[in-house]
Amino acid sequence: MKNLGGFLLPCMALVLLLGVTSPEVSFAKNKQSGSKYTQALKKEEPEKVRLIDWYLYKTDNLNFYMTEGGKKYAYVYYDAEKIVEQEIKYFNVDMDGDKIDIFLFGNEGFLAPIREAAYNGDQDLMVMNGDGISPPHRLQDIRYHFAHEMAHAMTNHKWGMDKLNYANMKYAGAGTWLIEGIAEYTAKQQIQYTKMKDVPPLKDLGYGKATYTKELKKLIERNHIDMGYVNQTGDLINLGEYFFYESVVYFMIETKGKDNFFSFLESMTPSKRALDIDEAIKKYYGKSNKDFIKDWKKYYGL
Ligand SMILES: [Zn+2]
Repeated sequence: MKNLGGFLLPCMALVLLLGVTSPEVSFAKNKQSGSKYTQALKKEEPEKVRLIDWYLYKTDNLNFYMTEGGKKYAYVYYDAEKIVEQEIKYFNVDMDGDKIDIFLFGNEGFLAPIREAAYNGDQDLMVMNGDGISPPHRLQDIRYHFAHEMAHAMTNHKWGMDKLNYANMKYAGAGTWLIEGIAEYTAKQQIQYTKMKDVPPLKDLGYGKATYTKELKKLIERNHIDMGYVNQTGDLINLGEYFFYESVVYFMIETKGKDNFFSFLESMTPSKRALDIDEAIKKYYGKSNKDFIKDWKKYYGL
C-alpha cells in the first residue's frame, strides 16, 4: 500500500502475471471461471496462463471472488458489504446498479507476485493478496486495506481518479497525495471496525488532531525530513508516506468541513472548465497553494 499508487499497481501486476506460470489450481463446486480478470489474462497470452478458479459470492454492491487460498481471509468478505455501505453513504455515491469486482487470494501460483491490495479504476476491480499484506503489516487485519481500496472505488465512481490526477498534473506525483489521502482518511476515520465480526480484532482508528500531530512529528524525526522543502502540494510526494497525505485531508475536512471538501473535489471534475488544483484551493480554501501548505504545517505545528 505504501508508495505505490493503487491505480498504478494493477498494470505492473498484470505484467508480472503474464511472465509466470504455475501448477494448475482447481476447486470444488460453486467455482466460477471466465471472470473479467482471468479472461483478460487469457486473451493476452493464453499459452502461459493457467486459469485459477474463483468462488463467487455476490452481495448488493460487490461480486466477491475468492480462491481457495483466499478463504482464510473470508472475514473480509463477511464485512465487505458493511464496509462498502458505510463508504457509499459517506461519499453519497450512486452506484447505479454497478457492482465492484473483488478478487481475494493468497500466494497461489501466478497470483503470488501480487503482494499488495490494489484498485484498478479502468476495470472497477480490486485485487488483494491476503498473504502478501498480512500479517507483517502492523494493522494485522486486511479489512483496513479493503476499506482503503474501496475508498478509491468510491472516489472513482463519484469524481473519477483520472480527473483528480489531471487537475494536479502540473505538479510531480500529480494527485497521489489527494487520492491516497482520501483513501487513508476514509479507512481510518469512517469505518467502524468494532461493530464487525472480530476475527482478527481491529480497533476503531479515528485519530484526532493530537494523534496526527504526535505521529507526524515522529515520522519527521525518524525519516530526518526537512519540512522547509515542503512549500506546495506538489512537494508532498517527496514525503513518501501516505500518512502525510491523510493528514492534509484531515486538516481540510476538520477546518472547512466535508461539504466544502467535496465541492473542492467536484470543482476539478467537470469536462468543461474544470479547475486545476491551485484554482480549486483558491476557491474553496481561500488561499494560494503555498499559503495552504503553510496553514497545514501550522495546524500541526510542523
Ligand atoms: Zn491506495
